[in-house]
Amino acid sequence: MRTILKRVFLTISTTGTVERPATDLGYLLHKHPDKAQAFSTSHGTAHVFYPEASAERCTAALLLEVDPVALVRRGKGKGRGGAPDSALAQYVNDRPYAASSLLAVALTTVFKSALRGVCAALPGRVEAPMPLRVEVPALPARGGAELVRKLFGPLGWSTVEAEPVALDEQFPEWGDSRYVQLVLEGELRLADALRQLYVLLPVLDDAKHYWVAPDEVDKLLRAGEGWLAEHPEQKLITSRYLSRRWGLTRQAMERLELVRLAEADDLAVEDIDNAVDETTDTEERPVPLAEQRRAAVLEALHAAGASRVLDLGCGQGQLVQALLKDTRFTEIVGVDVSVRALTVAGRRLKLDRMGERQASRVKLMQGSLTYTDKRLTGYDAAVLSEVIEHLDLPRLPALEYAVFGSARPRTVLVTTPNVEYNVRWESLPAGHVRHGDHRFEWTRQEFRDWAEGVAERHGYGVRLVPVGPDDPEVGPPTQMAVFEMTEKEAKAA
Ligand code: SAH
Repeated sequence: MRTILKRVFLTISTTGTVERPATDLGYLLHKHPDKAQAFSTSHGTAHVFYPEASAERCTAALLLEVDPVALVRRGKGKGRGGAPDSALAQYVNDRPYAASSLLAVALTTVFKSALRGVCAALPGRVEAPMPLRVEVPALPARGGAELVRKLFGPLGWSTVEAEPVALDEQFPEWGDSRYVQLVLEGELRLADALRQLYVLLPVLDDAKHYWVAPDEVDKLLRAGEGWLAEHPEQKLITSRYLSRRWGLTRQAMERLELVRLAEADDLAVEDIDNAVDETTDTEERPVPLAEQRRAAVLEALHAAGASRVLDLGCGQGQLVQALLKDTRFTEIVGVDVSVRALTVAGRRLKLDRMGERQASRVKLMQGSLTYTDKRLTGYDAAVLSEVIEHLDLPRLPALEYAVFGSARPRTVLVTTPNVEYNVRWESLPAGHVRHGDHRFEWTRQEFRDWAEGVAERHGYGVRLVPVGPDDPEVGPPTQMAVFEMTEKEAKAA
């Protein structure tokens, strides 16, 4: 086979002033404007260079020389029986100069830190939207210019231009090719722009060149952070990105739905039980229930002798913070489905300014508790504080399996409101749940039945502990189940 290099091209420009030079783009991309650099990727060589670099204007160009031989070789290693798969063959045979999903791969390889929004040199600028102009001269777009506008339109760009490219300029009567010339302009955070491109270029190309593995869902959700959950074309984006693998698409859509709910939840008023009664004399300020809950959780973790702890559904990180202050806890992992909650948690913990020792003790991860997750195995204890009631009841068995069947820590603490107590909340109208996003609230008996069922099914013992004032009639405001794996199961594990 003859080796023909195929080229894919993208530019990113910004403007600036003497005080805020456009050349800062080089820092944000972690690629110096004075140097042309080449990176070898699995599909060929990616070049980064700056056609212009002044304080007023700076343009970074990414050029990918696709190496068809590398592509085929890669295909052979991975495929069955050494035959390059047909999707790869397509890249070799009928892709003259544009191959967006390869470009997306090159983007993550070359601009990894920029995509994550990390820049130690200019932390302030990474966070700030900046004037950006992105140009892709030949973008393969199934669905044409109209779809390009639908995809980039809702994402905060002030200009989205998609000009169809003629099949051959000499012969306009031949009509348009499947390529458009894309120009995006607007004030966006660089990381957001890169993440959009990373997802939407292959979506428009609609011919993913590699096998879509289950972890592609994670990649999609990570790159879709902050924009995909609300995108009107979310279904098309998800399904094309995942090469129309329906099971994965559905999983991604479900997780996006949770992200949406959790984000709406974050914006809603705090749980009613976090509020302190304003009329109370400040001298005798009652301890907010949330604080009492954390104290009860800490006590139970101490009693269990746990040192490596998962906070599942960690929300904005209050418990993680309390655990960090206690040196008995050597490893603390907060997991939540809401990226926004995790962002707030990260800020609360000052993760970016933390010393190395502290930082090595704590980790925040995005994930959904209704899917088993290998990252959650091997811990001493897991806490689910005020989380189960945020799930639709039919999803609860999935969470049960992910925590007690798959992650299987020795100790699991679950807290949830006791609905019987609601009559004692003066500000809560009769028959209302405590928080807009609670899907259910249980009586003591309902919680006990569930907890005993779980314990029975997975080889745990369970006891129930009241949190807050234990009212003789209606019980405590919060109920906590403390699960301990049985000796027999623990030995087997
Ligand atoms: N544990 C914290 C937050 C409780 S609010 C506390 O005690 O204050 C419930 C949290 O569960 C929210 O942050 C929400 O985003 C998260 N959550 C809801 N469903 C989830 C799911 N399926 N997977 C992971 N987290 C989920």
